[in-house]
Amino acid sequence: MPIRRLAPLVVNQIAAGEVVARPASVVKELIENAIDAEAIQITVEIENGGRDLIRVADDGVGIRFDELSLAVATHATSKISDADDLAAIASLGFRGEALASIAAVSRMSVVSRPRDAEGAGRIDIEGDRTIEPRPAPGPPGTTVTVRNLFFNTPARRKFLRSDQTEATRVSETVQHLALGHPQTGFTLTSGARRTIDLPPRQERRLRVLAVLGGELDDELLELDVTQREIGIWGMVGKPAIARGTAKHQQVFLNGRFISDRSITHAIKEAYRGLIDPGRYPTIVLFIQIDPSQVDVNVHPTKAEVRFRNQAAMHGAILSAVRDCLRRADLTPALDLTSVGSPREAPLIIPGPPRAFGSGLAGAPPSASYDSARQFVEYFRRLDPKQKGFVYSEVKEALAEQAPELLIDDDAKPQAAQDVEVLPVIRPVTDVLQIHSSFIVTQDEEGLLIIDQHALHERVMFEQLADAIGKGNLESQRLLMPETVDVDATQIELLADLGPLFVRIGIEAQQIGPASIGINAFSSFLFERGVEPGPFIRDLLDRAAREGVNDDPEAALHEVLDMMACKAAIKSGDKLTAEEITELLKQREKVERSSNCPHGRPTTLHLSIQELERQFGRR
Ligand code: ADP
Ligand code: MG
Repeated sequence: MPIRRLAPLVVNQIAAGEVVARPASVVKELIENAIDAEAIQITVEIENGGRDLIRVADDGVGIRFDELSLAVATHATSKISDADDLAAIASLGFRGEALASIAAVSRMSVVSRPRDAEGAGRIDIEGDRTIEPRPAPGPPGTTVTVRNLFFNTPARRKFLRSDQTEATRVSETVQHLALGHPQTGFTLTSGARRTIDLPPRQERRLRVLAVLGGELDDELLELDVTQREIGIWGMVGKPAIARGTAKHQQVFLNGRFISDRSITHAIKEAYRGLIDPGRYPTIVLFIQIDPSQVDVNVHPTKAEVRFRNQAAMHGAILSAVRDCLRRADLTPALDLTSVGSPREAPLIIPGPPRAFGSGLAGAPPSASYDSARQFVEYFRRLDPKQKGFVYSEVKEALAEQAPELLIDDDAKPQAAQDVEVLPVIRPVTDVLQIHSSFIVTQDEEGLLIIDQHALHERVMFEQLADAIGKGNLESQRLLMPETVDVDATQIELLADLGPLFVRIGIEAQQIGPASIGINAFSSFLFERGVEPGPFIRDLLDRAAREGVNDDPEAALHEVLDMMACKAAIKSGDKLTAEEITELLKQREKVERSSNCPHGRPTTLHLSIQELERQFGRR
């Protein structure tokens, strides 16, 4: 074949291969243009995952009528003018190829009106056919409409996944950009559904919570430092909310979502020892540096960057995140001093405490009236009816135990005669349930405080893991199939989750455009009173939010985790004496009973030595 120059359309299609891989990449380029145009509100619409239609409308500065043709031409940009500008790029775009590339692989129209212009102009391009700019109606700002993406590049089209998967990717893209630009409002409409709606001029903390989920508020530590000209603001997730995927680990550099190995590494280092190495923290970092300190022109989609001083960046991130985590108290230590805090004050008797055990009678009130004492007093003085804990007949169980726990050396022989040696698990009469949430009991070394939900969750998890090791979980048919309303993304996820459902004994399928029917449900969950509908909806919600782990074992682990949580006794459940006894028995049996499946402790231990120390006996 002779050498020949490729036709411009082919050149652009080749270029499009780099920038426009799928609907989400079109959305990314168009939103970036809108942000560069100082838009306050950006409206994104897609049909069929963006395959049939993508429309991004903004209220930014607009494009002048006489520049419309240039805007869609290749290598035409208003953002840089010479090579020197490449050294310090402050805008998101600069390559001048997005519009041309998109136009080469779709039917595209641009309608734009500069803020001070009388009316809008419109240009249409379809492959290599261009309809020249002409006046058209339109509000100030720019609307780019992209129809039939890849209509002329079937090879590309074949690489697209299902509409729902593409829609999910678009949604993730909008979320990334929205996180990086809290000053801008974003809406996303997919088909008939509004899936994202974020107001403009949002405070960045609120924007992060709006995107990641407001329920994480208490789990995120705020980070705000500037060192060596690197500004870092972020929301740093406590180890407890680490995930099985890296999706909730997001880094923005000067407003641009980036993936950078060295930053990822620094984050991982900062969390070392705090989370399982196979898991990823939830963390959103916004890094601000002088644009001349970073080269963003190393990757067509600009997802990767090169720092002038990579070591400084690595060090800054590592120390910032590590210090932030260090400052926060993440250790499940029993904080005795907090018992005397004002919040707990009403529960503490004012003035000198009453004598506790014989050994304490006449002890100087102020010296020994410390937190440990208050702690024990706290338990002693709880009115069973008021506080809602069930310790059966023996109302002063702990008070009775107090002499044994608190007795001083002189009195010990005396007390020892009265108190028989206790077995490790004591009868339930020596157990308190506190505020329907915690169980207090003792072992040979001291006092145990158990989080009933966390412990039971671990018990449930171990039982499930055990059962699944032997085969698929037992399934129970529903007399009447239960219908759940879901959205398109979730229907798509149903297919991904299919194999998992089989393993956990769930049978569900799509029965309408926006509904699924559940025919069979896990017997285990049934027995624990978990309702099929809400469970499946939660599971799909979570899958939509966090994605389904590509690793089937990890995905199964995550679902078992969720099942365990749903099946477990809740905080706030009043337990009968039998239930408490049973739970404590299970505690002895299951492995890893010290931590719940998420790594949180199930039990806090207060040793006799510590009590003695607190009472100034040592
Ligand atoms: P780049 O963003 O790299 O400059 P594009 O092909 O994305 O290249 O856009 C070309 C030019 O068209 C931009 O430089 C800008 O001047 C103009 N433009 C594109 N989209 C918009 C928009 N939404 N609002 C205003 N101007 C726009
Ligand atoms: Mg651009």
